[in-house]
Amino acid sequence: MQARRKSSNVLLDTALQEFYGAADEMGLSERLISILSRSERQVKVSIPVEMDDGSVEVYDGYRVQHSTALGPSKGGIRYDLGVDMDECEALAMLMTWKCSLAGIPYGGGKGGICCDPLNMSAREKEKLTRTYAARIEPLIGRWSDVPAPDMNSSGQEMVWILDTVSKMRGHLEPSILTGKPVTFWGSFGRNEATGRGVATCGLELMRILGRNPEDVTAVVQGFGNVGSYTAKTLNDAGVKIVGISDITGGYYSSGGIDIHKAFEVIRKNPKKLLTGFEAVGNCEKIDDVLFTEAEFLFPCARDGVINQDTAAKVRARYIVEGANGPTTPEGEEILDDAGVLIVPDFLANSGGVIGSYFEWAQNLQGAFWTEEEYNNKLVHIMKGNFRRVWDYAEAKRVKMRRAATMTAIQRVADVIAMRGMFL
Ligand code: GLU
Repeated sequence: MQARRKSSNVLLDTALQEFYGAADEMGLSERLISILSRSERQVKVSIPVEMDDGSVEVYDGYRVQHSTALGPSKGGIRYDLGVDMDECEALAMLMTWKCSLAGIPYGGGKGGICCDPLNMSAREKEKLTRTYAARIEPLIGRWSDVPAPDMNSSGQEMVWILDTVSKMRGHLEPSILTGKPVTFWGSFGRNEATGRGVATCGLELMRILGRNPEDVTAVVQGFGNVGSYTAKTLNDAGVKIVGISDITGGYYSSGGIDIHKAFEVIRKNPKKLLTGFEAVGNCEKIDDVLFTEAEFLFPCARDGVINQDTAAKVRARYIVEGANGPTTPEGEEILDDAGVLIVPDFLANSGGVIGSYFEWAQNLQGAFWTEEEYNNKLVHIMKGNFRRVWDYAEAKRVKMRRAATMTAIQRVADVIAMRGMFL
């Protein structure tokens, strides 16, 4: 029996220990445990960039393919100072479970560049992205590895990557990545898909609890791509959003935040931040919304925010994880003891990658769906997946995270058993 891995990186250790715990609970064989606790491929590249002032900075970039058992590895590319190999490995493993649980034909991958994107010019970001793309190009392909946006990346970064890879190959290959703008081989609905999926999980939970969304209060931490559309979808369904936040701080209104005004503010802000929202939104500026009184909390910002120092101060009864890894195991223990229910990240935010699958499928066929078709399919699949995990958790008397991990591992294990473990 091979020794079990531990990591000093919180996110990686969390992913590993949850995997081992679920694998043991379902009686997974030691050989599969050894295989799935490691990544199939980890690549590190250096990325020299000539900055606007003429100096040269060399950045570190990564791409990890955790598993390709179910299909091409799928996962985003993030731009953040916290990016390193361990973080990418953890998030790639999470993508394997996310795609498996979602029922889509992908394995798990993740990539990123360690940088401070908010303090770079558009030109610097473009150079950084294109050189990164050129260096990971051998990995990328519609049947091998299909990137997408993640923290601090969007359709623009995807177009730079697609354009660079296409020029290197001498032909355009739209299906090598997803999250492209609608005007260039993207799909209606993809931009909103993650947030729509997170909100759908929240609304399904309210339905199971017998609650009318109009009687429910919620706070949404993070107002990037995930948080903003989570808030909008919840708001459209009648939920009262009493607080939102981003890196500029928190914004609170007991009467409900005007989400449409918040969108206006980020649209006008060059960095897409909520700067000054308290004035136009007629709300109170606070530090953050993590500890705000509301029944539902949607952490949609970043990992590790609910931890041993913060968990006891959380007032919500239900947490739906929009970000990847927002709750540490220590934080979760405190919440478990307090009877707080958590809808785990790789179920709650799987709308993004399910939507990516829709985009990829359209690209392969040269087809274009309507927004209605896309959204209906997305919501239908999200509701079904949520219900499946809920029922499994009830039947096995385990937490939703454990139920989701076990379900996800089972599909990967079944396919590996059919395909064979070795070359
Ligand atoms: N970055 C998103 C995630 O973490 C989307 C990944 C994708 O669409 O490939 O799920």
